[in-house]
Amino acid sequence: MIKEVILCKYGEIILKGANKSTFESILLKEVKRRARHVGGFTVRYAQSTVYVEPEEGAQFCDIDEMYEQLKKVFGFACVTRAAVCEKDMDTVCAVAAQYIPPRLAGAKKFRCEAKRSDKSFPLKSPEIAAEVGGAVLEAMHGAVKVDLTEPDITVRVEIRDKAYIHAGQERGAGGIPLGSGGRGLLLLSGGIDSPVAGCMMAKRGLYIDALHFESFPYTSERAKEKVLQLAKEMCEYCGRIRVHIISLTHIQEELRDKCDEDYFTLLLRRFMMELADMTAHEAGCQCLITGESLGQVASQTMSAIGVTDPVSSLPVLRPCIGLDKEEIVERARNIGTFDTSILPYEDCCTVFTPRHPRTRPELEKVTAQEEKLDRPALIKEAWESKYTVVVRQFDDER
Ligand code: ATP
Ligand code: MG
Repeated sequence: MIKEVILCKYGEIILKGANKSTFESILLKEVKRRARHVGGFTVRYAQSTVYVEPEEGAQFCDIDEMYEQLKKVFGFACVTRAAVCEKDMDTVCAVAAQYIPPRLAGAKKFRCEAKRSDKSFPLKSPEIAAEVGGAVLEAMHGAVKVDLTEPDITVRVEIRDKAYIHAGQERGAGGIPLGSGGRGLLLLSGGIDSPVAGCMMAKRGLYIDALHFESFPYTSERAKEKVLQLAKEMCEYCGRIRVHIISLTHIQEELRDKCDEDYFTLLLRRFMMELADMTAHEAGCQCLITGESLGQVASQTMSAIGVTDPVSSLPVLRPCIGLDKEEIVERARNIGTFDTSILPYEDCCTVFTPRHPRTRPELEKVTAQEEKLDRPALIKEAWESKYTVVVRQFDDER
């Protein structure tokens, strides 16, 4: 029987010089965390590649699922399933002739490439490629042709500690390992943009905590469940997310009763940013993350952002700022949060929305509005409503 492994090749980590081993150990920890839930696998790394192999005699080992998991690990440029065998050409050709044909189903043209990191191997790369390509061609009985310039699929042979043979290498999740860059607090609404923003920053190495504002009874229990479901879906990439929940009910009622309607959203957003800043400090997060996109709505004009930004003492990352809605939607579909995001539940930002929100607010006018409120007391009351739900990728995880 052919032995199969999964090869995961580093992306940017290759460039990390002296720090490479720190990134590698974070990456390995993440791969092992996932492997624990998918079966008995051994995980090791060598030559800028992580090798994930089914353990000998493992009782349970789902390689299909492991492969899907590895496509969601930040830090890998590409992943592939490969047959592994001894490094002699007869064996390599025999294994290729058996392993590769099912993987060329539907393809009309292929090419074979070889790479040898073991320079003591007697054949050079072009010779290896020619021999293995010939063996595959013969095994396919004329169903495919060789095309070196425009193949449908590339068969690869890698001579490393052993010989690895594969076809159909896929792109990995890219980025740098989860957790290698610290921790960020994502302001998570029930919409399309914020889960995308969170996953974009996780891709750049941040562990994610989330903060959701509710406004019960103006927002419902189902709206909150939807947000927890979004966090669960994000965990496919982010691992584990603590979702902090704060009630804005009284703040919103006070705004409605005491402030000019035009400023309502901006004032609310300043409360949100301040409470987010406090949550981030308590939760050990070094930045805030929002799903804002410049000009998308009145509260996301440059002037509006200029009025809400100064409330936070931490950097506010807005990875969607330069993306069009269509581009954000495409990303939401790719990470698998879109269908949940479009479920029609209300968000606190859509409660008491002004008919004519200010798009060019001035900071002095906004702060003058705030003087109508007992801001410290409202912040304190909201802060005291905070509670935390931990959402995990796998239900049996600690
Ligand atoms: P989204 O898909 O992120 O909801 P949106 O277009 O609805 O996008 P807004 O409602 O204006 O955007 O909110 C902008 C950002 O403010 C969101 O991306 C999110 O980061 C934050 N935000 C909005 N509502 C909430 C909420 N209820 N709890 C936490 N953060 C929120
Ligand atoms: Mg929203």
